[in-house]
Amino acid sequence: MKKKWLFTPGPTPIPPEASLAMAQPIDYHRSADTVALIKDVLEKLKHVFQTENDVLFLTSSGTGGMEGAVANLLSRGDKVVVIRSGKFGERWSEICTAFGVEVIPIDVTYGNSVDPQTVGRLLTEHPDVKAVYATLCETSTGALHDIEALAGLTRVRPTLLVVDAVSALGADDLQMDNWGVDVVVSCSQKGLMTPPGLAFAALNQRAWNAIEHSDLPKYYLDYRKAYESGLEGSVPYTPAVTLLTALQCALDRICAEGIRNTIARHSRLATATRSAVKALGLPLFAVSPANTLTSIRLPTEIDGKAFLKLMLDKYGITYAGGQSQLSGKIVRIAHLGWMNENDVIVAISAFERGLAEIGYDIPLGAGVTAAQEAFAR
Ligand code: PMP
Repeated sequence: MKKKWLFTPGPTPIPPEASLAMAQPIDYHRSADTVALIKDVLEKLKHVFQTENDVLFLTSSGTGGMEGAVANLLSRGDKVVVIRSGKFGERWSEICTAFGVEVIPIDVTYGNSVDPQTVGRLLTEHPDVKAVYATLCETSTGALHDIEALAGLTRVRPTLLVVDAVSALGADDLQMDNWGVDVVVSCSQKGLMTPPGLAFAALNQRAWNAIEHSDLPKYYLDYRKAYESGLEGSVPYTPAVTLLTALQCALDRICAEGIRNTIARHSRLATATRSAVKALGLPLFAVSPANTLTSIRLPTEIDGKAFLKLMLDKYGITYAGGQSQLSGKIVRIAHLGWMNENDVIVAISAFERGLAEIGYDIPLGAGVTAAQEAFAR
């Protein structure tokens, strides 16, 4: 079997003990062991979410968690502000529109992050806005949004702040309780080092109060059912038991490292990757880049799709390409989840070789040297 490396912003590599846990015989989802497993996992997730609020889980990908954060919080005809700076901000607005919610969009040029003052102005103009839907790391561009500043605006108003931390949870800082974020949504296959298939949401009391009044249709993604069952270590429907066993191992790693250290590690990996890209003379795509991934604008003479194909076919390396309008124009290198400094060196050295091979004149080794120097600092 060919050796492969995964540098995509989800799925991310799985630690060996998590893979081994999934190879154990499957358990009944109402067994005492599974009840204990669910309780343990939900408790440990609080540490990762940096909250005292309970966390709920759904058997779905991250988008199921997002849809739940619309269907459970809002009512028909509600008005919301959606920050759209890429594919995933756009997804918030597509979900809201599908549910008949009025969207006031804030369109941000791809690669940029929202200016909190723009959000503040809109909230003053529209005091009846029920919620602001934001994204911690807009994975399609690599941009980080200033959620702390947005929370400063919403927590003094009756407006909720709902944050998609699907990719960035555990990599970029998100202090749910300290900052006063109302809802945080995430999933298993990114910073949480578990295969795809689980979504998570943490809600504070303000958000639970809004749920009391919501009249949008919901069934499988009913947050209240998931939450109430979770408190008992139970589930309304058969969950992805196997994934929960992997998640427990991954959470043990994060809890042992400590979430603040986990975020600091991601920050070091991101800093070194950015230094490497700069040393290669290539521009970063995001103006305020996240710790989750680094997006690199490719020189126009490079065919991004051909480059990614070469990297996979010849080197077994998967980076992510650009989505929709960015297709073929950017490369996204994730340094997310079960990653350390050596992984970054592999990602950068392969990147250099691939670029050289495709005919781009770069100083071979310059990126690796810059990354090594960043790590040494
Ligand atoms: N939001 C963000 C920021 C993401 O990165 C992703 C996945 N790339 C999603 C939402 C959607 O998650 P999923 O594909 O698990 O439904």
